[in-house]
Amino acid sequence: MSTEEYFSGLRFLHSPGPTHVPKAVMDAFSGQPMDMADPRLEPLIEDCEAGLRRVLKTKAAHIFFYAANGHGAWEAVTVNLLAPGQRVLIASTGHFSDYWAEMTEAMGVSVVRTPYREGFPIDPEHVEQALVADKAHAIKAVYVVHTDTASSVTSDVPAIRQAMDRSGHPALLVVDVVATLGAAPFEMDQWGVNVVMGASQKGLMCPPGMAFCAADERAIAQTRSTAGLSPRYYWDWIRRLNAAAYLKFCGTPPQNMLMALRAALQLFEREGHDNVLARHRQLASAVQAAVSVWSAAGVLDFVCQVPAARSVSVTSIAVKGANPDEIRRVVRDSYNVSIASGLGPFRGRVFRIGHLGDLSAPMVLGCLAGVEAGLRALAVPIGDGAIEAAMRALGSAKL
Ligand SMILES: *Cc1c(COP(=O)(O)O)cnc(C)c1O
Repeated sequence: MSTEEYFSGLRFLHSPGPTHVPKAVMDAFSGQPMDMADPRLEPLIEDCEAGLRRVLKTKAAHIFFYAANGHGAWEAVTVNLLAPGQRVLIASTGHFSDYWAEMTEAMGVSVVRTPYREGFPIDPEHVEQALVADKAHAIKAVYVVHTDTASSVTSDVPAIRQAMDRSGHPALLVVDVVATLGAAPFEMDQWGVNVVMGASQKGLMCPPGMAFCAADERAIAQTRSTAGLSPRYYWDWIRRLNAAAYLKFCGTPPQNMLMALRAALQLFEREGHDNVLARHRQLASAVQAAVSVWSAAGVLDFVCQVPAARSVSVTSIAVKGANPDEIRRVVRDSYNVSIASGLGPFRGRVFRIGHLGDLSAPMVLGCLAGVEAGLRALAVPIGDGAIEAAMRALGSAKL
């Protein structure tokens, strides 16, 4: 089938990133670039920094934007906080923690991993034990992926912070919120998170192409301590701690991405941050209700084995005795719903439904109906009444 083939109506985008981009954000993105002395440039950057701080729930963290994807922000975190030969603890969540660990090792940093159990969130006790065992305080930071987008398991960041505090260890807490910011509750200051990294194309409702790090004063002090030990220039937070746009971005800022982000942040304000989170919780409950019903026939099942840890952003569905990639292809080509594949260790045994960003109840119901139509077309055994269950889960909420 040609990729140029015409189809009527909308293609529903239900990958857990990139996500559907609202029209107001696309319109903002199409603005004309400005010369570097244009008086509108600094307010644009300030609006993005202030708006992002409000979403992160931080008063004073420094914000660093990069024209990069999430992987760029991962690298930025490591080159700033850690020098080659230093050590980091990476809490294992599966695919995304493995990827981050592999990248961190490639940069000469020594990585300690906690044990991994498929389908389960990070066990805070494993973090505590690893820190207690590190009597010399060689571990400089703990990296945590809030939601592992491959397994759709969300870990409990405050519980991990409490475990770190119990250990009495001074390591910094670094959290990857790529899959959760703007979808799941997150409180940078109140939860004691020192560094946060994220990207534009998931809960933030922007096109792919921009990433950010947010760092508190302890993280900036740690970064100063690695100056001269960790080779860096473009990513360097200390160099970017500068009011001038050209220095803050180490060159020309990605102006159109900033215009898009400002528009997206305005949408958050307009809907109300708490309402955005409540909407995600409600839409996730509809998807989970449908998956529970489908699973009754014994072929599909949640990857996440702990109901309370199921992500509000994405649901990973394990398939036994049918081909998830065939399901995905039929759902996309016959019913115009794009869902995502299994990643890493889940390749060939999982498909994923993204439900974050600019979504409404009928969009999610349409997605679920498209997936069910595909499952039925392929005669995959599923329980009856999933869409009805999803509608019931939505209740009378205004979505
Ligand atoms: C998508 C994702 C990334 C990687 O982001 P890219 O923009 O694709 O580089 C990292 N962490 C998590 C949790 C993600 O969901």
